[in-house]
Amino acid sequence: MAAPTLHVVATPIGNLGDLSPRAQQVLREVDAVCAEDTRRSGQLLAHFGISTPLLALHEHNEQQVAQGVVARLLDGQSLALVSDAGTPLVSDPGFRLVRAARAAGVRVSPVPGPSALIAALSVAGLPSDRFAFEGFLPARAAARRERLAALAGESRTLVFYESAHRIDASLADLCTAFGGSRPAVLARELTKLFETVLDGPLADLHARVVADADQRKGEFVLVVQGMGEDADATLAEGRRVHAILAGHLPPSAAARLAAEITGAPRKALYGATDPGQ
Ligand code: SAM
Repeated sequence: MAAPTLHVVATPIGNLGDLSPRAQQVLREVDAVCAEDTRRSGQLLAHFGISTPLLALHEHNEQQVAQGVVARLLDGQSLALVSDAGTPLVSDPGFRLVRAARAAGVRVSPVPGPSALIAALSVAGLPSDRFAFEGFLPARAAARRERLAALAGESRTLVFYESAHRIDASLADLCTAFGGSRPAVLARELTKLFETVLDGPLADLHARVVADADQRKGEFVLVVQGMGEDADATLAEGRRVHAILAGHLPPSAAARLAAEITGAPRKALYGATDPGQ
C-alpha cells in the first residue's frame, strides 16, 4: 500500500450490500481497523471474510487511543476508521482522531459511502440545494424546545437524527415551534426491511406516529423544509391569527396556537400586534 494513511471508511446503515468493493479492499489491507464497537464491526468484517485486527475507539476513549493510533501511522502503518453504521464523524466518533492525524501530518483519506443523512435527503423531495444538518436534538425537553425555537426561522432544509423513544416528543415540539403545516419527511429504517418514507405537514406526520406504534420503531431521519419564500405571507397570517387569539387566551397559548395553525414561527409571534394597528 502507498504512504501510511488513515482511511475513514463508511459502512452500511442497514443493507450489507452497501459496503463498497473499495471499502472491503481497504478494510482487508490495513494493519488495523479502529471501530466504535469491535463486536459489531467484527461481525461486519467476518461477513466479508475479512480478518483484520480491530481496535476499540469510541466516545469515551477516543482522546487517549488517538495518540497511539497516530504513533502507529507515523511508524508506517495504515489504519482504517469505521463507526457502527454509516459515515464516521457524522453523529459518530472520529473527529478527535482525524484532527490528531492531520495535525501530525498523516494522510487522511475518505472511502465514502452510506450516511443516513444523505440517504434521507436524497429521497425526501424537499429542497436540497441548501440544507443544515442538526444531528440529534437535545434529549431534555426544555433544551430541545429552545434549540427548535432558534431554528424556526431557518430558510435551509433542516435534517435531524432521532431515536425511537423520542420521535413522538420531538415531532410534537417541532409542530409547536415551526407550526404544524410545515412540510416534512420522516425516513425510517432506510435500506432495511421496514424502510418507510412518510411525507406531509409536520402535524400529519406526528398524528401518524402517535396512531401507529410500528411507525415509532427503528431509526429515523427527519427532514423539515425551511421557512420558505412565502415566509412573509406566513408571518403576516400568523400575526393576524395571533391577534385574534390574544384577545381570548394567555399570550404564550395564543402564540403557540397561532404558530400551529399558520406555520409561522412561535417566537416571531410573541409580542406581535395586529398588522392593522
Ligand atoms: N454515522 C451515521 C450516518 O452516517 O448516518 C449516523 C450515526 S448516529 C449514531 C445514528 C442515527 O442515524 C440514528 O439514530 C438515526 O437517526 C440515523 N440512522 C442511522 N441508520 C439509519 C437508517 N437505516 N434509517 C434511518 N435513520 C438512520
